Amino acid sequence: ARLANQIAAGEVVERPASVIKELIENSLDAGATAIQITVDKGGVKKIKITDNGSGIAKDELALALSRHATSKIKDLSDLEAIDSLGFRGEALASISSVARLTLTSKPQHQDTAWQATAAGRDMAVNIQPAAHPDGTTIEVLDLFFNTPARRKFLRTEKTEFNHIDEIVRRIALARFDVSFTLTHNGKVVRQYRIANTQAQNAKRVAMVCGQKFIEHAIEVNCEHDNMKLSGWVAKPSFARNQNDLCYSYVNGRMMRDKLINHAIRQAYSTLLPADTYPAFVLFLQVDCREVDVNVHPAKHEVRFHQSRYVHDFIYSVCHKALLSINN
Ligand code: ADP
Ligand code: MG
Repeated sequence: ARLANQIAAGEVVERPASVIKELIENSLDAGATAIQITVDKGGVKKIKITDNGSGIAKDELALALSRHATSKIKDLSDLEAIDSLGFRGEALASISSVARLTLTSKPQHQDTAWQATAAGRDMAVNIQPAAHPDGTTIEVLDLFFNTPARRKFLRTEKTEFNHIDEIVRRIALARFDVSFTLTHNGKVVRQYRIANTQAQNAKRVAMVCGQKFIEHAIEVNCEHDNMKLSGWVAKPSFARNQNDLCYSYVNGRMMRDKLINHAIRQAYSTLLPADTYPAFVLFLQVDCREVDVNVHPAKHEVRFHQSRYVHDFIYSVCHKALLSINN
């Protein structure tokens, strides 16, 4: 069992940041509104995520750690219309096959918390009582301790932490309604409070992307048929020489999608100096039956059933916004 999980881990667990992405997505799927992320030594030594979500019942703890066990999809037709971030049931099993994972959880209706760990070749799950408020904590120690080849690909503590920071920033932009705290080596590095108004949303964007970005940003908000595009595009005068402020989301899922990036770049095309990049934070909402997220294990890419239509929608909304100002 451990070996099969380690092979699967190759697809989803690349580095500490990918572990953190999967764990935060689980917390969000569980309806958490407060998520604390604590890491030591760039996440290689320790990753700990605590949420106030729905928790996992005692008799489901073992299942949560086993492969292809997901509570989010009941049958194949659900796969056609995925509205949760997770659905493969692979993350926890994969992570616990390449690290020392402890899962502690208490659903509201349960009197006490229980803690689960899986160990050994057969990944036998051990369960014991624990103390924990409503919600879940997952602790991941010594990532890749048993897969030296994988460990060799890890970079410096600083680089690994930067990847983690980037993931937390990306997710913080997707969920204004959730608070996030990121602590590294005992120091609080990021603190994003819950934002309830558009002004507070903009403040969070400023915290993540910089005050300059928001000062140079044009707000976008447009609906057409079943599609909606909202967010901020920076004026061309804010051109960057890196693509470090390109944030796009489809139905709340962060993306690095060629089609979306292409549409946005095209909207800027004649407005940007050569070799520069636009800056944007954009949220696309489409009917979840119009989009297939089951394309890539890390779920960065999507396939739109009507891709040309989506592309042109994004292009025209951004283009119009950019033309509405004279730099
Ligand atoms: P997936 O997210 O694809 O379903 P995972 O391996 O990431 O698979 O998680 C397995 C299961 O464990 C989930 O389906 C969910 O039921 C449960 N789970 C994991 N993390 C949490 C959490 N933070 N809060 C509540 N349930 C969780
Ligand atoms: Mg998951």
